[in-house]
Amino acid sequence: MSAFVDEFMAKVKADNPCEPEFHQAVQEVVESLEPVLEKNPKYREAKVLERIAEPERVILFRVPWVDDKGEVQINKGYRVEMNSAIGPYKGGLRFHPSVYLGLLKFLAFEQVFKNSLTTLPMGGGKGGSNFDPKGKSDLEVMRFTQSFMTELSRHIGDRTDIPAGDIGVGGREIGFMFGQYKRIRNEFVGVLTGKGIEFGGSLIRPEATGYGAVYFAAEMLATCDQTLEGKTCLVSGSGNVAQYAIEKILDLGGKPLTFSDSGGYIYDEAGIDREKHAFLLELKNVKRGRVSEYADKYPGAVYTPVDAARDHNPLWAHKADCAFPCATQNEINAKDAHNLISNGVYLVSEGANMPTVPVGVELFVEKKILYGPGKAANAGGVATSGLEQSQNSLRLSWSREEVDARLHGIMKSIHQQCVDAAAAYGMDGNYVAGANIAGFLKVANAMMAQGVV
Ligand code: NDP
Repeated sequence: MSAFVDEFMAKVKADNPCEPEFHQAVQEVVESLEPVLEKNPKYREAKVLERIAEPERVILFRVPWVDDKGEVQINKGYRVEMNSAIGPYKGGLRFHPSVYLGLLKFLAFEQVFKNSLTTLPMGGGKGGSNFDPKGKSDLEVMRFTQSFMTELSRHIGDRTDIPAGDIGVGGREIGFMFGQYKRIRNEFVGVLTGKGIEFGGSLIRPEATGYGAVYFAAEMLATCDQTLEGKTCLVSGSGNVAQYAIEKILDLGGKPLTFSDSGGYIYDEAGIDREKHAFLLELKNVKRGRVSEYADKYPGAVYTPVDAARDHNPLWAHKADCAFPCATQNEINAKDAHNLISNGVYLVSEGANMPTVPVGVELFVEKKILYGPGKAANAGGVATSGLEQSQNSLRLSWSREEVDARLHGIMKSIHQQCVDAAAAYGMDGNYVAGANIAGFLKVANAMMAQGVV
């Protein structure tokens, strides 16, 4: 590490103790940006990066609700409004027991760069709760989300902060929250994205993050005159992002072999075809079941439960061409990264946010595989949220084809921005540096123009 990165990180760690994911996200960006700051001392003098690493505002609140047994429950609610230099705050809400302030700060920080890459005018934010929707009835989820929105509604608005979904927050949760916002504020506005189609949602928004990660992979492959046709693909997760990554892999002629949840993973050597994919969607979105049930239905598939004693995830140790981590942060550890490389994987496109630990990232970059970091590869979700906002403002609905074409165009543009920014700093093919530099420059220039605010 250079003296500059050392000094910068020492301050970030001292000011934000016990937030390892936030430190990890900031460090990667600071390392990438060092040559940019050297070439442009004005950013350093104006302490632009220091300001980007400090949220503009953090909101913390109590979320009381009553469960089906009549017992009072209390969760924590958060919204991190990280940066509004290029537009209103925009970023998802996560409901998961692991949620705490440091996790949301990492996600909000990543979101600033990602949103900048989309070419749309969106600042960065993130929020959520340590509430666990798993195992809760629909009525419990409704009571919780209504209480959550009762407080959050004071701080958001279609021109200030527009949340969306993330882990544990899908169409059901967004619907309940939209209903409560509308009731409290007496206004029907696009204050949330990921809404149902009947009340202002956009076609393709549910598919967008997964589709986008696969479009990004196709762009990376095109730089080597290759396509996804016939490529074997490892996918993790089985939620929103994984489901539609699998669908787009099938559309482009690839062969998905795996998916997972927090209980274990499925390896289907014959490949997950359309019929099996439809079963998976029904299992996860309607029955809200576990992936193990797939192996009961399709005996050719093998289910491997999670074993906490293992030092690696065997999902990443299968022979394949491409990998799409679509579950959660730091799900590819150092050993997993080595396993991927030694089993022939030469493309990793991250549907999840920061799914690879730093030494894994270093390995991918050093081995020069096609490696698309989350803030570029999974930006299709928020980009399509931006398109949902545009449709809400215009009071129009675009067709599937139109939204998909715009999403595809945005993913191509993000890919090109990464390629160009990396090349401009002599790091050809390094998408990590490219994404961080391109994402930073737009936000930094806007901040410089707006003065010290
Ligand atoms: P979902 O809640 O729909 O699905 C999450 C999936 O990941 C589930 O299969 C879940 O399993 C698994 N998972 C979650 N936490 C863990 C964990 N700690 N260990 C193992 N498996 C876990 O979320 P999404 O698909 O929306 O999000 C997945 C990733 O993509 C996240 O990193 C998110 O930040 C990122 N992302 C999402 C976007 C979106 O538009 N939804 C946009 C950009 C990024 P289980 O059901 O057992 O918990």
